[in-house]
Amino acid sequence: SINIQDDSNESENVIVKKVSTDLIRKEVARRRTFGIISHPDAGKTTLTEKLLMFSGAIQLAGTVKARKSGRHATSDWMEIEKQRGISVASSVMQFEYRDHVVNLLDTPGHQDFSEDTYRVLTAVDSALMVIDAAKGVEEQTIKLLNVCRMRNTPIISFVNKMDRETRDPLELLDELESVLKIDCSPVTWPIGMGKTFRGVYHILKDEIMLFTPGSERADQEFEVVKGIDNPRLAELFPLEIEQLKMEVELVHGASHPFDLEAVLAGTQTPVFFGSAINNFGVREILNALLDWAPAPRERNASVRTVAPTEEPFSGFVFKIQANMDPAHRDRIAFLRVCSGRFERGMKLKHLRINRDIKVSSVVTFMASSREQVEEAYAGDIIGLPNHGNMQIGDSFSEGELLQFTGIPYFAPDFFRIARILNPLKTKQLQKGLQQLGEEGAVQVFKPIVSSDLILGAVGVLQFEVVASRLKNEYGVDAVFEGTSISSARWITCEDKKMLADFERSSAGANLAYDAAGNMAYLASSGVNLRLTQERWPDIVFHATREHA
Ligand code: GDP
Repeated sequence: SINIQDDSNESENVIVKKVSTDLIRKEVARRRTFGIISHPDAGKTTLTEKLLMFSGAIQLAGTVKARKSGRHATSDWMEIEKQRGISVASSVMQFEYRDHVVNLLDTPGHQDFSEDTYRVLTAVDSALMVIDAAKGVEEQTIKLLNVCRMRNTPIISFVNKMDRETRDPLELLDELESVLKIDCSPVTWPIGMGKTFRGVYHILKDEIMLFTPGSERADQEFEVVKGIDNPRLAELFPLEIEQLKMEVELVHGASHPFDLEAVLAGTQTPVFFGSAINNFGVREILNALLDWAPAPRERNASVRTVAPTEEPFSGFVFKIQANMDPAHRDRIAFLRVCSGRFERGMKLKHLRINRDIKVSSVVTFMASSREQVEEAYAGDIIGLPNHGNMQIGDSFSEGELLQFTGIPYFAPDFFRIARILNPLKTKQLQKGLQQLGEEGAVQVFKPIVSSDLILGAVGVLQFEVVASRLKNEYGVDAVFEGTSISSARWITCEDKKMLADFERSSAGANLAYDAAGNMAYLASSGVNLRLTQERWPDIVFHATREHA
């Protein structure tokens, strides 16, 4: 009878397992996790807000905007959050649309541009690129796109501000293709611009959506006219329609036909034209994200590839944020779920320190409120309270030893030497910088030949953040002085003897170790770096490195 009992238990277990696998599959398939990339001022904040409004996640225009202006003190933010019942401070926004769960990750763009921005892109499955139609491709668009390219992240493009005087759309496409080296497939095509902006022609659907300015209502319907040869169009705007027909012919000849496989491979980007502030073209973007952007995909880990539908939970930390509330010193670690199902209260293995942690106070980031997570699936972002033992790139699982890869540290562009006025605080300075370095707030280099502490950052704002955190969290008054260092490269060499020779050569004076113990070459100029590379052809100089 014991045997029979066992059997029935077994089959029950099998059924339970089957149900949860199906559930995981279903939940993964309906998830989309993306980031918006753009140069400052192209309209990222406006578009984010409109996407949230279209999905019904927020009702109030100006909510996201208010957060950006940064004129308020932190306490004001909390007040605004309470009043509006929305988490204006979170940089992850989750909402539902058309039975999909969308996770929108904010990539800080402005002066607060930092390594964070880059690393957020390692946690997304696709990106939405916003281009200002008057300005075309700008500096930060290029940088961010290059990061997307490291993982062949699919990109959907939105050419914004068509209600303004813009550049010629054909010329814009040409620039996208030549500067960003990505094939463009226009899905919509603008009719006129600025004062004579009439709407867009949907090339795939052969219909014209008429533009009307105004942004009062999020669910605004724009009138649609079927067929480019529809006589109604010639009546409405005879001049522009002739121009449109000519351009569409040109576009057909010159651009790439839409190819979903190429989009998913990251080699082609579908391009939409519109005006975020007028809600125009926003719904199309949202639909494109659901229809064409990929659901969570496989992720590479040190030992194997992890499929999002696997039952055991796994994920990695891609960002650590200090709590905005000074009363709580805690930091939040943002974890991207890569597989399985997360349930509140479950035990997770913190693989780097090989310890089980029980996570009961995890938060999720609904656009409409900050809530306790009950469950999460691949593609979702959960916030773990971090008492100082989590680093960027750390992996978590239900026990399997996996280290997710592809979470990069970027060679810094800006350098400072950290000094303190009170030598008694040296220990605190070292400890503070060590922890802030682990957290990814700044990179810390220790030269082999001196006792300096050199800070490296991708954006100068990082230094300000570090200075104020050193003061508040570690009680250290530090001054950051300029240095003659202009760039850094991590160093590796297969040939150990060669590496030793390199260390002993005159170049050795420029070597330093980073917080994780990796050797780096700190160059005084571009010329110095190039000459050193030429002199030592077998030494590899890396512009990025992986989590240790
Ligand atoms: P971000 O810096 O990329 O987040 O850009 P914002 O969303 O803050 O927009 C920058 C400026 O462009 C703001 O003044 C917006 O009101 C304006 N803007 C955004 N979208 C449009 C648009 O479609 N048309 C026009 N004319 N202005 C826009």
